[in-house]
Amino acid sequence: MNSKYIVLMVRPVLQTVTAAVTMPGGGGAPPGTPSAKPKDKQRTKVVVALYPFKAIESGDLSLEKGAEYEVIDDSQEHWWKVKDENGSIGYIPSNYVKEKETIGLQKYEWYVGEMSRQHAESLLKQEDKEGCFVVRNSSTKGMYTLSLYTKFNHPQTKHYHIKQNTRGEFYLSDKHCCPSIPELINYHKHNSGGLCSRLKTTPCDRPAPPTAGLSHDKWEIDPSELVLLEELGAGQFGVVRRGRWCGYIDTAVKMMKEGTMSEDDFIEEAKVMTKLKHDNLVQLYGVCSKHRPIYIVTEYMRHGSLFNYLRRTSPDQLGPAVLLGMCIQVCNGMAYLEKQNYIHRDLAARNCLVGDGKVVKVADFGLARYVLDDQYTSSGGTKFPIKWAPPEVLNYTRFSSKSDVWAFGVLMWEVFTCGQVPYGRMKNSEVVDMVQKGQVLEKPKGCLNEIYSVMRACWRHMPDERPSFRVLMDKLTTIERTVLAD
Ligand code: ADP
Repeated sequence: MNSKYIVLMVRPVLQTVTAAVTMPGGGGAPPGTPSAKPKDKQRTKVVVALYPFKAIESGDLSLEKGAEYEVIDDSQEHWWKVKDENGSIGYIPSNYVKEKETIGLQKYEWYVGEMSRQHAESLLKQEDKEGCFVVRNSSTKGMYTLSLYTKFNHPQTKHYHIKQNTRGEFYLSDKHCCPSIPELINYHKHNSGGLCSRLKTTPCDRPAPPTAGLSHDKWEIDPSELVLLEELGAGQFGVVRRGRWCGYIDTAVKMMKEGTMSEDDFIEEAKVMTKLKHDNLVQLYGVCSKHRPIYIVTEYMRHGSLFNYLRRTSPDQLGPAVLLGMCIQVCNGMAYLEKQNYIHRDLAARNCLVGDGKVVKVADFGLARYVLDDQYTSSGGTKFPIKWAPPEVLNYTRFSSKSDVWAFGVLMWEVFTCGQVPYGRMKNSEVVDMVQKGQVLEKPKGCLNEIYSVMRACWRHMPDERPSFRVLMDKLTTIERTVLAD
């Protein structure tokens, strides 16, 4: 496992936040928000807290939701130094705040930003209230979608695109146009105006997202700050337990069996890995490396591995839209890793986890490089993930983002068969033969042709002919929008 890898961490500049003005992904001021103004480079940057944050480490500063803070230093990507209204100064997680001028829709409880159709549906279903709604970024860039839950006839979520007329006004049903999205939402709070229900309520407070590390510049975690709770499972590296950091942050603690990994190399790498941050990646908070066994501390994911989740859920409960939504979330996390030139090397349903609101995240990225067990690292080994490996990995152990793409195709197959084992009971040597001959997995029962053809594109023999994760995201969201839309 000596393949070359490069990690590019992008150092942010002040303009990063300004760029969010036109990007729905950043939830910045969209055209429908009255407050979009040109930016004056000389002025002080003021941010508003989207979530509360509790400072525990010295040097950090607590955030109160909705309060304003002056930014003193934003030269680090994930932790900024800010000043509160009392003049106290400290570090805060940069993903917990938004620049006041570009805050746009984010100040509204009903705006959830980058949320998939499937995630919105499960969030609203969980609330189970007539007229419960959210507004999210549409899969078409720059557009917004209203997701609205109704119990009329039978419980269901309807999705409406927020459209704009030639005068730039916003509407859901064309009789009722408003100059901004907040005004449109307000109108539909009082009039259903063609929707399946009036807009009545929004889901309870959204949980705060994970931070990059547990505190500013902290990746070494003091084990005395961790309370270890029940066992969550056991993997090839050892036992995983739920933990609470400083009494309030849920974590998963992987206790690495001694001798299973090259620890010093991993500890070095962990400093970089804590800085990888995406909604569809399981956040690495840090490590406890001063004692043995070392602990790897990550974000806690309530519903465990995607593989087990698929196995214990009946296929009727998970329709094609939900299954596709899971694949899109994994693809989104992988597109981020691809952009950072970071190779996963062991992508499979067992290495993805399911959290609150059925969000799916990719875990264990890059870990394979530090495993010491030959049976796992060499393609001839009994523990090597052969069934997820493309020809160039089987032949030359040549890992790349395109070998991750092949594995993603197999993961899609696992999802659409609800957790069947690829190639059934075939022996590893038979699988290798089959893959070398260009034979691929069959179409899962009931799987749409459009979805199966995406899997087949991931299994093209030559790595360069496989689509990138970025292209896969476009393909999958187009299928979601055009083939599976209500
Ligand atoms: P493996 O070594 O086989 O990849 P892991 O050590 O990653 O397995 O995890 C073993 C089990 O522990 C998983 O199947 C899952 O049930 C549980 N687990 C691992 N990480 C988490 C987490 N972050 N949150 C919740 N459960 C987890």
